[in-house]
Amino acid sequence: MTSGMSGGVEDPRSLAGKTAIVTGGGRGIGRAIAAELARAGANIIITYRENQSLADAVARDLQGQWHADVRAMQCDVREGQDIDRVVNEARMAFGGVNILVNNAGMTADNLVMRMSEQAWDDVLDTNLRGTFLSCKAAVRHMLKERWGRIINITSVVGVAGNPGQSNYAAAKAGIIGFSRSLALEVASRGITVNCIAPGFVLTDMTSGLSDEQKEVIRARIPMGRYAEPGEIGPIVAFLASDAASYITGQVLNVDGGLVMA
Ligand code: NAP
Repeated sequence: MTSGMSGGVEDPRSLAGKTAIVTGGGRGIGRAIAAELARAGANIIITYRENQSLADAVARDLQGQWHADVRAMQCDVREGQDIDRVVNEARMAFGGVNILVNNAGMTADNLVMRMSEQAWDDVLDTNLRGTFLSCKAAVRHMLKERWGRIINITSVVGVAGNPGQSNYAAAKAGIIGFSRSLALEVASRGITVNCIAPGFVLTDMTSGLSDEQKEVIRARIPMGRYAEPGEIGPIVAFLASDAASYITGQVLNVDGGLVMA
């Protein structure tokens, strides 16, 4: 019997007593993820790169609504020392980190022929290197605890590719290979590592698409619509819980049927 199910009285989906870090938790999908983790009872550190006021407001709202301890911290996921500072705060304030959600991400789209090296590096560094650095910093505590949940946000684009997004597709595909490798390294220590691959979600990241681009994409989605961020958060909360204790190394497509692998 798993720890969260002992006696059959505890809710295996509860995250009470757990501490989570959600990178990029101040807006978009990260905000929705933080909301679901707070609802399930976790203490949370959400990180932002630039938008402090948004992140502070999310922390305040979630504290008010769910009485969880939610803190906002500046952290550029490309910088190892920033990540170490966040993990250290989790250790000092809450005794460690149990759940890590690597959500911070960015795009810089262009065709390969026109893509600058800077655009390549920025996207790889933020999405892929940031995920590696955060996992490396957080997994140490999880290994000691013999319990941990790592959920990395990849994309349908990393599974299927997308013209104009070769850098982003490479980073997101890289996250999948990285996550499966880490899952194998830590499986025997009670730590699971999984990916969620959203399709197209209504956030700032997709708001820059022209109406024509939006319609072309929408027409390809079997469910005929974009996702709301709130349709991603509960999947993360599930993977973070004891209810998902035997799932590791998986990529869960949450995409309205866009990619049927
Ligand atoms: P978003 O609205 O553009 O938000 C991006 C978040 O990442 C912000 O919180 C931002 O912080 C943070 N961030 C960006 N660069 C960072 C850095 N260097 N260090 C730390 N934080 C950084 O994006 P979203 O749509 O919610 O996307 C969230 C995740 O889902 C990303 O990994 C994205 O690739 C993935 N995804 C999105 C979609 C979609 O259709 N929207 C689909 C599939 C996958 P600030 O607020 O401080 O700038």
